[in-house]
Amino acid sequence: MLPKDLEPIMLGLGHPKYRASQILEWIYSKKAEGYDEMTNIPADLREKLSNIAPIRPPSVLDVKRAKDRTTKLLMGFSDGANAEAVLMEHDYGLSLCVSSQAGCKMGCAFCASAISGFSRDLTAGEMCWQFIEASRLAKDKRISSVVVMGMGEPLMNYDAVLQFIRVLNWGKGINVGARRITLSTCGIVPGIEKLSGEDLQITLSISLHAPDDATRDRIMPVNKLYNIEDVVGAARRYADRTGRRVTYEYVMIKGVNDSLAQAAALVRLLKGSLAHVNLIPLNAVPESGLVRSTEATVAAFKKVLEDAGLAVTSRREMGSEIEGACGQLRLRRKRSLQP
Ligand code: SF4
Repeated sequence: MLPKDLEPIMLGLGHPKYRASQILEWIYSKKAEGYDEMTNIPADLREKLSNIAPIRPPSVLDVKRAKDRTTKLLMGFSDGANAEAVLMEHDYGLSLCVSSQAGCKMGCAFCASAISGFSRDLTAGEMCWQFIEASRLAKDKRISSVVVMGMGEPLMNYDAVLQFIRVLNWGKGINVGARRITLSTCGIVPGIEKLSGEDLQITLSISLHAPDDATRDRIMPVNKLYNIEDVVGAARRYADRTGRRVTYEYVMIKGVNDSLAQAAALVRLLKGSLAHVNLIPLNAVPESGLVRSTEATVAAFKKVLEDAGLAVTSRREMGSEIEGACGQLRLRRKRSLQP
């Protein structure tokens, strides 16, 4: 919620519009857990709001901390849906990976969120709660960047995700700069086109994971709907319209997408576009039957891209001992609750 959304309610309750901004600052910036903490808000307004719009933080069902300074939270909402957020500590600061849906429908073969099934879309408020609860864990350290890359496909929950991004970006609230926000999609082309017209300077990240349709069909069912040419075309247009470099995520899977011929195909696909390739070690989910590429294979693959002049990084593995891949904690909880 932004001040403009709350202002009519303030006026309806007989209070000035500016109270909306004050209340939201308490929630987003000062992380108030109840109206009674809002000392600059009149008592009668606090009481009315407690009755008509009680603040209900999610339950934190599980917190796992890894030695590499990755912390994973599983949050439960009032209807029983749950979602994960992952807080990562880097040399340059803290970043948070946020879920946009409870589970996911997209069915990527390597992903625990797909295996654990889909419950529902998350609201913008539930995404904000992920940030607020992670901020509490971070204590005095500020979360300076956010990636919407956790459970779910954000462009299948477009309006709520955009509302969340605008709240993140609101200067008096959470205040994360647009250039420090990344939205990751498996390639929902109409959503990418719409996003490129939003006048937002966020980074677009494409979960590509294969350089050709035959390989991508095998591991990402969405490719049958929007093939590689469509997805990369939409991403190029996003880069043209926003001036923002697009990140292409590429999970390295042994014997599936990690050959040198596939590296060369990736070069042909992306050469000449404003692109950055991020090679990611597979966080193996036993049910998938897929295993990660060896370090030597990743290095050889990376060299082909570098030699061709592509910007490429290989992401360090984060949180593997705490089931760092999106959806793994939720999957484990679901299994533990099964009779
Ligand atoms: S990788 Fe992303 S889009 Fe694919 S199933 Fe997992 S959460 Fe969904």
